[in-house]
Amino acid sequence: MVSVIHCDSLWYGADIVTMCGGEYHLIPQGAIAVTGGKIVWIGPHKELPAFHASREVVFQGGLITPGLIDCHTHLVFGGDRSAEFEQRLNGVSYAEIAANGGGIISTVRATRNASEEQLLAQALFRLKPLLAEGVTCIEIKSGYGLSLESEIKMLRVARRLGELLPITVKTTCLAAHALPPEFAGRADDYIDFVCNTIIPRVAEEGLADAVDAFCEHLAFSPAQVERVFLAAQKVGLPIKLHAEQLSALGGSTLAAKFKALSADHLEYATKSDVQAMRQAGTVAVLLPGAYYLLRETQCPPIDLFRQYGVPMALASDANPGTSPALSLRLMLNMACTLFRMTPEEALAGVTCHAAQALGLQETQGTLEIGKQANWVHWPLSRPAELAYWLGGQLPATVVFQGEVRS
Ligand SMILES: [Zn+2]
Repeated sequence: MVSVIHCDSLWYGADIVTMCGGEYHLIPQGAIAVTGGKIVWIGPHKELPAFHASREVVFQGGLITPGLIDCHTHLVFGGDRSAEFEQRLNGVSYAEIAANGGGIISTVRATRNASEEQLLAQALFRLKPLLAEGVTCIEIKSGYGLSLESEIKMLRVARRLGELLPITVKTTCLAAHALPPEFAGRADDYIDFVCNTIIPRVAEEGLADAVDAFCEHLAFSPAQVERVFLAAQKVGLPIKLHAEQLSALGGSTLAAKFKALSADHLEYATKSDVQAMRQAGTVAVLLPGAYYLLRETQCPPIDLFRQYGVPMALASDANPGTSPALSLRLMLNMACTLFRMTPEEALAGVTCHAAQALGLQETQGTLEIGKQANWVHWPLSRPAELAYWLGGQLPATVVFQGEVRS
């Protein structure tokens, strides 16, 4: 006699792309059994054991992929910079814009002046398009407050988004993003403040899951970033880094030394940076939206990442200055077109490798037994279509922890 296994729900009628090991691993006509929001069985429908499901969902064809993960965003901020975008295209220089209080400092001002409710409403406006296209997990950084109160305010808003909506939110403290005006000419004093006050406080309040910094000539030096990393280590938070975006400072090697979850941007990363990342298991998070908007010409060293087996993730970098991106799927196309990544690498970049960049590889990012039941059903026949179509909204059905998200 065949014993019947009970499960909460059973899903079949579509092909399944599991993304195990960073590859499609297509299961034609697959089935997934879910209990307690987790996958308890997955495989070809014809091999399905005798399950009794409280609920069955049958798709009429199409494709199931893991839920998309946007592992690098600055989604919470006050105002926007569309006026600057327009000014620049009307011939106003960066210097003039900055002299008139524009640039990142204008976002800092708007963020400081906004209430928590206002920031939440603005962030919801930006998050909803990402949700609609199948994002089930998102990382959100602080870094436009640059004071204790306003960094805390940003992180609280990020946490609330995760409570209000059916999505996993991971928060990152990026207090070392830029120098606030009140610390002008005193970058080391500001780093002291970040290390001694902001990081311990956000850690104590449980508001940050990681610590990030911006290592660049126009932001902070490797020596300053190292102090931020030591402060993060002291409170037990993993680190990430904006590194090698505009120049090669060795930030990604430094990040690897601290076993960073990820180093992000990386247009100027060198072979030795890539080797250090490989050794440390640090993920390369590539951000084609910023590359595109800044009209950069130096591509990240994709071939070196391939050669050394460094996992490549992709993210929207949603931010008001350099990547006002409201679509992660568009980033897949950009990564293929601009960086010459393959559609399979691009999809791995927003699923399994993005999960790893957030330290979530045990629970998210692929479709396999034991993982969270987060996936997207697409009206598509081939996974490459996700990177192929330019924009538009595909009528996707999104499942989060075993429930259809409306
Ligand atoms: Zn960023």
